[in-house]
Amino acid sequence: SIEGIHDQRVVKYDCDMKRKLMSEQFLTQEIRQALKKKEFTCYMQPKCQIDTGEVIGLEALVRWRHPNDGIVGPDVFIPILERNRTVHQLDLFVWDLVCSQLHEWIKEGLHVVPVSVNVSRIDFYSLDLLSIFKGLLTKYDLSADLIELEVTESAYIEDYKIVTDTIDQLSKAGFRISIDDFGSAYSSLNMLKDIEVSVLKLDIKFIQFNRKNLLRTMAILKAIKQMARDLGQTIIVEGVETQEQVNLLKQLDYHYAQGYYFYHPLTIEQATCLLKPAKVMN
Ligand code: C2E
Ligand code: MG
Ligand code: MG
Ligand code: MG
Repeated sequence: SIEGIHDQRVVKYDCDMKRKLMSEQFLTQEIRQALKKKEFTCYMQPKCQIDTGEVIGLEALVRWRHPNDGIVGPDVFIPILERNRTVHQLDLFVWDLVCSQLHEWIKEGLHVVPVSVNVSRIDFYSLDLLSIFKGLLTKYDLSADLIELEVTESAYIEDYKIVTDTIDQLSKAGFRISIDDFGSAYSSLNMLKDIEVSVLKLDIKFIQFNRKNLLRTMAILKAIKQMARDLGQTIIVEGVETQEQVNLLKQLDYHYAQGYYFYHPLTIEQATCLLKPAKVMN
């Protein structure tokens, strides 16, 4: 009967909702335990000069070394932590790990490159970012220009003032600021008139072109390049995977990229191997 179908639907809907809530609650608990048990770490993905392949920076990407499931990526747990407003606990751990690693590398006599960390928009409300990052500089004896904060566009949607003011302070204190996934959300352009941003990380979608949209892709990439130059910003193109994409970027005089074509995210040990010894001064 129609009623029966209707009932079934309601039941099914309830079950799905319940399962989702249960699994989210379960995962939240598991993540809390994992933080305590130090099961999180980060991988580091190089950012490269397009023509030479030289590593000009690294990005820390959090990973969960799950005892049963292996290496789990952030898409599984970051959205949950953002929803229950506890993502800052994980981010604080990652930032500390990155800074302590930079300290180690310098101690070992390696020539370090700037390392970027991802900052969730929730962190702007939960944390005093300026004092935390200044504290990390003191704790690990680092200079601010070694640390870059990647902030996604969506951070500017709510409470524009908190975010722009904080970025302003961080920028004045010498930290590099980049807009992550630039062009993927909608608040991107107008906020550039209000904040000092040194790097635009161009969203992966801009470089995913085909024969049909190639000319339009090129027109957009040319315009972004021009704008960034006038604003004194560096562009890093995200998600570069193929020779064809590299060729297009070279043709359009783009200089920096990040993506599987150059390197996948690496373990800290693998990333260490890429660093050269610092030049010895006499
Ligand atoms: P994101 O910051 O935009 O990082 C780039 C993502 O693209 C990474 O995924 C990276 O592994 C992936 N990627 C790199 N090169 C390529 C490529 O050539 N092709 C494709 N298809 N993908 C590529 P991942 O590591 O899964 O991170 C996903 C997102 O999770 C990050 O996006 C970032 O927003 C967030 N995230 C990562 N680590 C942290 C963290 O420590 N804290 C916070 N709050 N968010 C983080
Ligand atoms: Mg990022
Ligand atoms: Mg990105
Ligand atoms: Mg992303």
